[in-house]
Amino acid sequence: MADLMEKIVSLCKRRGFVYQSSEIYGGFGSCYDFGPLGVEMKNNIKKAWWDEMTKKQSPPAGGIVGLDAAILMSPKVWQASGHLTAGFADELAECKACKKRFRADLVGKTCSECGGELTPPRKFNLMMKTFVGPVEDEANQTYLRAETCQGIYMNFENVLNSMRLKIPFGIAQIGKAFRNEITPKDFIYRTREFEQMEMQWFCRPKDADIFFERWQKERLKWYLNLGIKKENLRAIEVPKKERAHYAKKQTDIEYRFPFGWQEIEGIHNRGDWDLSNHAKYSGEDLRYYDEETKEKYFPYIIETSGGADRSFLAFLCDAYQEIPSGRTKTTKPTKEIEILLKLHKKIAPVKVAVLPLVKNKPKLIKKAKEIYQLLKPNFVCQYDELGSIGRRYRRVDEIGVPYSLTIDFETLKQEDVTVRDRDTMKQERVKISELIEVLEEKLKN
Ligand code: ATP
Repeated sequence: MADLMEKIVSLCKRRGFVYQSSEIYGGFGSCYDFGPLGVEMKNNIKKAWWDEMTKKQSPPAGGIVGLDAAILMSPKVWQASGHLTAGFADELAECKACKKRFRADLVGKTCSECGGELTPPRKFNLMMKTFVGPVEDEANQTYLRAETCQGIYMNFENVLNSMRLKIPFGIAQIGKAFRNEITPKDFIYRTREFEQMEMQWFCRPKDADIFFERWQKERLKWYLNLGIKKENLRAIEVPKKERAHYAKKQTDIEYRFPFGWQEIEGIHNRGDWDLSNHAKYSGEDLRYYDEETKEKYFPYIIETSGGADRSFLAFLCDAYQEIPSGRTKTTKPTKEIEILLKLHKKIAPVKVAVLPLVKNKPKLIKKAKEIYQLLKPNFVCQYDELGSIGRRYRRVDEIGVPYSLTIDFETLKQEDVTVRDRDTMKQERVKISELIEVLEEKLKN
């Protein structure tokens, strides 16, 4: 299965999904850049999440509103949240000779690099330090956020008051988070800079269990509705000793990657951990006044915390198929295999390909380019005239384009084109004047 990951990594680079950061300098610390197709696909994932959370959900009371908080925050936030203490640290052993550090649970008795003696394990914090202002001293030190949700807690009262909300309600946010992971691995699965899609649901303590169940179901449904195969997705309740330091209850939503079952999203009941600690450290009363019960209390928080990068990888792995060559009528069967990326239409980075049947007929090329220009403002399109039509179909299948248009000699006479469906391989002729409407309709679901 490691082989499959290699193929996916290679496809990502070859077709402009993901590149290694600073590649000409040999790469940098497990950071990755999203290429032209990668950024479209990741934006599609984030949009699908945002729409789902802020538009489609119709929970009681205030619903879910959005937020975009700063990455840099007062370092006091991280003291109160528990991230600067043992809760957010990996146990590491350091080699006495070469000083390299290893995850204590993953290393033997000696250094795997130089054979040197290892120190006993100690905690190593995962927060990324930085300095704000002109002087690099401790007073000016802060951290790049390790989770986006703290920005939400910082604004709990602002949002509550400015939007005149009543609990239960949620705040959704998408943004970068940073962790100095010691063993980043598995391509974009575990990196030091990543994007989270988080929703924090504020509710009465007594309703927390019900909402936990509800959000867990909703989040599983989201992945399935976007095409993830049922057999590759599961929810696992995390036992107490393995839970995050803030979690009263935790379920990991896991995807079956080629390298095994791994978490892609966490559903957490954070109780009143965050608001009560921030109230304690800041001296602000962050309790909620419940007009119905005339009580003041800290709402409980149910969090759905997913990773845009991890779901990107899950969608890619799930969609990746290898099929014998010759799927397309125009392609002669060979021993070659073809790659088909069966991405959900909403997630696919390029929606429409425009392919003139042959290259050396100027009238055909002119018409194809006109059609490309017509569609470009409405859909992410790709124009391709290089190589045989069979080869070009293969290229569009490899990046998961749902609809390919062929511009042929009939087009010039009848003002219509062939629309080929990636999945059913069905071809139909559609009038150019109706193309935008027809494609919009097809891409809707
Ligand atoms: P893990 O146990 O894999 O380190 P975690 O339990 O620490 O993950 P959370 O703190 O629950 O992760 O973060 C929520 C989500 O953020 C994860 O489910 C994942 O999608 C994403 N995430 C966390 N750490 C990383 C990382 N290093 N690289 C990419 N995504 C990450």
